[in-house]
Amino acid sequence: MSGFNAPFEPLLWDDIHLGFGKIKAADVERALANPKRTIEDFIALISPAAAPYLEPMAQQAYALTRQRFGHAMQLFVPLYLSNLCANDCTYCGFSMSNAIKRKTLSLDEIEQECVAIKQLGFEHILLVTGEHKTKVGMDYFRQALPKIKGHFAHLGMEVQPLSQAEYAELNQLGLDSVLVYQETYHPASYAQHHLKGNKQDFAFRLETPDRLGRAGIDKIGLGVLLGLADWRTDSVMMAMHLRYLQKHYWRSRYSVGFPRLRPCAGGLEQIQAISDRELVQLICAWRLFDPELELSLSTRESPAFRDQLAKLGITTMSAESRTQPGGYASGDIHVQTALEQFATEDKRSVSQITQALMEQGLQPVWKDWQPGYASQ
Ligand code: SF4
Repeated sequence: MSGFNAPFEPLLWDDIHLGFGKIKAADVERALANPKRTIEDFIALISPAAAPYLEPMAQQAYALTRQRFGHAMQLFVPLYLSNLCANDCTYCGFSMSNAIKRKTLSLDEIEQECVAIKQLGFEHILLVTGEHKTKVGMDYFRQALPKIKGHFAHLGMEVQPLSQAEYAELNQLGLDSVLVYQETYHPASYAQHHLKGNKQDFAFRLETPDRLGRAGIDKIGLGVLLGLADWRTDSVMMAMHLRYLQKHYWRSRYSVGFPRLRPCAGGLEQIQAISDRELVQLICAWRLFDPELELSLSTRESPAFRDQLAKLGITTMSAESRTQPGGYASGDIHVQTALEQFATEDKRSVSQITQALMEQGLQPVWKDWQPGYASQ
């Protein structure tokens, strides 16, 4: 069992959930004035009572982000290696029960994708697969990682949770970061949306960041799927999880992502929606809570909304994402749509996105890390 047991504490979820209704304007103002913000401050800042304070929150988020990150916006791209999956998640196009065409890239196809992605200018890449440990497991990763690492400066993964020893081995093969989204910290909602396969094991997933920290992975990415359960309570649980991890695995860096439920093949309707304005409030609150934290936004969001958020705390963005295996080297948009995990909203080219960032005074960054620096 993970040292982070908050989701299993009886009544904690309900206490946090009901507590939002008791937050007053004075609590929000106290949180805004506190230079080192606590979990209680974070709760106040994402509460409905903080909605009228969005402007001062945005101003502080902007100033803190520029202080810590300058005008840099790190760009990365996902490389989907396989859409095979042995799980059934109610919200995902890759679910095993969906009758979609399945594909796992061969080593030659991976090479073609890498070449196509390099031509777009990327140095940071995120490898993504469904969760199928027999066909897309360690044997596959052992062959694929060295090949991909040869092309890029930074290698991240978003695949099924692995053991500590497996993460340590992949670390040796060049793995820099791992995203493992808990989806929701509410066990009952988690069970409702994860219907088959190993992903049903809530506790094993919750323990994954501990295994990553113990394996010495440089950066660990957390996230909840906004819309699965109450987004405010889930965000508080994630903030508590982050603080626990920062205390125990202080050598690792951390990032937080903000995926909202998107349409997908056979998917469900969004059930606990977060509005655009609430998402802005949430992102500003995260920046005020942790000025050092990497905050990441994907192409699930619209161009106009991403441009707006680029100045309010976001430090990392994906661009020109294709969420289907083989999407970069292939030009067939119909094949792409049939195989993809979820629909993307920001379909602009990399050059259009970098242009939009520069028009806002931001500097697109392709590479911020050189392995040689580690030994200096
Ligand atoms: S969310 Fe992940 S585990 Fe669930 S069906 Fe999609 S790819 Fe598989």
